[in-house]
Amino acid sequence: MKTTELTCIVCPMGCTLTVTQNEEGEILSVEGNTCPRGVPYAKNELLHPVRTLTTTVKTANGKLLPVKTDRPIPKESLFAAMEKVNGVIAPEGVKIGDVLLADLFGANLVATADLR
Ligand code: SF4
Repeated sequence: MKTTELTCIVCPMGCTLTVTQNEEGEILSVEGNTCPRGVPYAKNELLHPVRTLTTTVKTANGKLLPVKTDRPIPKESLFAAMEKVNGVIAPEGVKIGDVLLADLFGANLVATADLR
């Protein structure tokens, strides 16, 4: 058996979770969670970790525009995603929520501010 400690990042409480797995990697138990949301977090974090990518892209006038993926993407894809995002230049008139890059490892890259 294998035991892993994680900090749950679903809410600011930051509970320390203790996850026990068998030799095949199956999760046998999750302990230390103050609420039920800690269990799926721990399972996803160990078996299929994902993250929302938050960064900036260049604009045509040389400024930076904040962007993020509209859903989490696989953690192992973050560097490859950043390489694609680095090539994006936001056009004039972009509004918050506009898609700047579609199908980025299962998510869309969207603006999180208006471009003024
Ligand atoms: S287990 Fe529940 S209370 Fe604890 S950090 Fe996660 S979401 Fe918050």
